[in-house]
Amino acid sequence: MSAPLLAIRDLTVSFATRRGGHAFQAVSGVDLTVQSGEVHGVVGESGSGKSVTMLAVMQLLSQSATIAGSIMLDGQELTALSDRQMRKIRGARIGYIFQDPMTALNPLLTVGEQIAEAVRIHRGDVGHKHAVARAIDLLRLVAIPNPEKRANQYPHEFSGGMRQRAVIAMAMANEPDLLIADEPTTALDVTIQAQIMELLDQLRREKNIGIVLVTHDLGVVAGVAKSLSIMYAGRVVERGLVDDVFAAPHHPYTKGLLESLPQMDERVERLSAIAGAPPPISARPSGCPFHPRCPYVIERCRSERPVLRPVGPIDVACHRAEIVAADKGTLQDA
Ligand code: SF4
Repeated sequence: MSAPLLAIRDLTVSFATRRGGHAFQAVSGVDLTVQSGEVHGVVGESGSGKSVTMLAVMQLLSQSATIAGSIMLDGQELTALSDRQMRKIRGARIGYIFQDPMTALNPLLTVGEQIAEAVRIHRGDVGHKHAVARAIDLLRLVAIPNPEKRANQYPHEFSGGMRQRAVIAMAMANEPDLLIADEPTTALDVTIQAQIMELLDQLRREKNIGIVLVTHDLGVVAGVAKSLSIMYAGRVVERGLVDDVFAAPHHPYTKGLLESLPQMDERVERLSAIAGAPPPISARPSGCPFHPRCPYVIERCRSERPVLRPVGPIDVACHRAEIVAADKGTLQDA
């Protein structure tokens, strides 16, 4: 079998405090694999380490960050590359879609100019005229109506959904192998959200690209991702095929995320089934980091950190995974 498109192994990212004191681990021992032509969801609350992991892949973390472990793209070790070598990978082999399209778009340039520029950064041999023609093709690819006219408009003339489509067009400018979409639909309403997810899935099918879909919303990965990793306090706590995890979550955190999803027959969103808030990076609890919020907690959980282990078709980091999976009641009943 060929090498996975993206293989992250035992990734740890630490940030030094300002005065060079104790370093805090934002991400610890993360393993993650993405194949070409598949969508892998990375799900967790804010501060879970999901975006830090993806910024480590892009080598876009601040100077205070230290990376340990391995990040391989199609068999090439990214952590060993120089800034210059990495600049050639970013935007060419890996496209990144940020949460807020306005941070990715320059309000002073037309959308067409910006996409053409993204084409020319990595392909100096392409002339201006051809780059503009390619920009129009890319706008067509992401289903922007009347792309010739739209290419001459500024970002403020686009709706929120159209802006996100333009950002996706820019990320696709050089036909990357891997697309990282970091909360790509958070700022959009539900209908537009569904359209953007459909667009990403269409690009995956047509171009055979691998997509990492980073989100706090488990509902977003349903229907589009094949596999997923759930992150909590800088670690992967559960991973497997989406169908297996949705059918029988083995970690109480995943169970809570699933129970918090609005149901088709409910008019209002459910309140979070998980009490409390994730711990700050500077004060992560001993043992299992989820123990202060976990209704299944036992004494062992407070002192012994659970490691990721296979339980049936799922990998899970919980001392009581078998009991959690077998429990058909809700988290509040536990
Ligand atoms: Fe809960 Fe213990 Fe499992 Fe952590 S290890 S999730 S505290 S049952």
